[in-house]
Amino acid sequence: MLDKRQFYINGTWVDPQAGSDFAVINPSTEEPYATISLGGQADTDAAVAAARAAWPSWAQSSKAERLDLMRSILEVYKKRSDEMGETISGEMGAPISMSKASQSGTGTYHIDGFIKTLEEFEFERGLREDAPNDRIIYEPIGVCALITPWNWPMNQIALKVMPAIAAGCTMVLKPSEQSPLSGMLFTEILHEAGVPAGVYNMLNGDGVGVGSQLSAHKDVDMVSFTGSSRAGKLISKSAADTIKRVSLELGGKGANIVFADAAPNAVAQGVARCFNNTGQSCNAPTRMLVERSRYDQAVEEAVAAAEATAVDLANRDGKHIGPLVSEMQFNKVQDLIEVGINEDKAKLVAGGLGRPEGMNRGYFVRPTIFADCTNDMRIMREEIFGPVLGMMPFDTEEEAIAIANDTDYGLTNYVQTTDGEKARRVARQLRTGMVDINGQARSARSPFGGMKQSGNGREGGVWGLEEYLEVKAVGGWPTE
Ligand code: NAD
Repeated sequence: MLDKRQFYINGTWVDPQAGSDFAVINPSTEEPYATISLGGQADTDAAVAAARAAWPSWAQSSKAERLDLMRSILEVYKKRSDEMGETISGEMGAPISMSKASQSGTGTYHIDGFIKTLEEFEFERGLREDAPNDRIIYEPIGVCALITPWNWPMNQIALKVMPAIAAGCTMVLKPSEQSPLSGMLFTEILHEAGVPAGVYNMLNGDGVGVGSQLSAHKDVDMVSFTGSSRAGKLISKSAADTIKRVSLELGGKGANIVFADAAPNAVAQGVARCFNNTGQSCNAPTRMLVERSRYDQAVEEAVAAAEATAVDLANRDGKHIGPLVSEMQFNKVQDLIEVGINEDKAKLVAGGLGRPEGMNRGYFVRPTIFADCTNDMRIMREEIFGPVLGMMPFDTEEEAIAIANDTDYGLTNYVQTTDGEKARRVARQLRTGMVDINGQARSARSPFGGMKQSGNGREGGVWGLEEYLEVKAVGGWPTE
């Protein structure tokens, strides 16, 4: 078993001052994979003090210095990218082929994205041509606490650490205690790339410990958090006393609106998208709304897609889905499948309770589909975070939009139609931070984030960089 008890503070790996042991479990085998330490107040204080001390000088660093560091991080990251894929697969159960390509690949993608964003960003600019003595100056906000989840660990870490570095902030990263090893490998990468001491610090810990200590800390200026809406609310409350900026990326319950004129593979693609990463994605399209004339056929197609979805060990190559991350998550998903089965109207048409046939250990779940759902059911309102899809019919475009918007969440919705005017009309009316039309991925440096209880932050591109900046407006700016 790996011994990973140390933290990275002020440019070196150090022993915890107030740590307690925590076992990271391999979700395919249910066996311990590594021991980490969950830090306490003394560790949090030491990491924040290091970040605070490094801030004045890093805040004054030039764009060229920051770009040099970021390019060097990219180079080292690429060299260790496969190792990152293996680490993520072992700690949270993403199948190895997918983990190397997608999970680890998000790191390269976002590091590269923020290099390009910084290259183009102007930290000082005029207000307008008719206001020559006004100046707008963007400055780093200060010390940032970055708190990340286990489901796309490197995606979340890169989306926070890179813009913080680019902005001139210093930081303390607290990765999820369920998936800390990828965060520790990323820390090694930053160290090898030459990050100045104190600019970047990393602590392991849980939510009630290091997570809450960081959110409440008087020397932290901003918390950027990705995770559950439950934790997002608690963080906002504990950050309130010090009026820190809180940027939240929370859960989702995305609708996938399939019109009768959608492409022939729209349903199968929607199922695959929902089950990707074993359904553990905040932007998963978990509610499939199908125009009634195509509904019965769509249910048949969805069942076929679910039955064709292989479930297997995370360390096997191939296109299967893996286990869920933890026993807690396994039990939560089983409970919600049971809730769905006990609903009067919903019909279980694929999957169901228990592990897939032939599997007797590991947090594996059967790819599951409920048909004939109504939008008031718990399985259509709560984020399940497993390979579970709910389907329901609709009659009109207006009804589909109303159902899609009838949720506490507002992260991503999906529209499937070959009618361009209809796609544009619907996309404009959906209350989500993102809309994907006909399965086309959004481009690099497009902002990721939600409305309503999916959060208030935007990550990626110029929007993701501005989260870490203060705006200073100066009047009377001398022009000569
Ligand atoms: P979680 O909220 O339990 O934990 C996320 C992180 O917050 C962990 O590091 C955890 O230790 C920490 N934490 C927990 N309670 C805290 C508290 N009170 N104070 C401070 N920190 C605390 O979430 P999770 O189970 O790890 O992740 C799954 C959730 O993340 C899902 O709801 C998913 O939708 C969401 N998510 C959202 C996005 C997005 O960008 N919108 C992306 C990925 C995941």
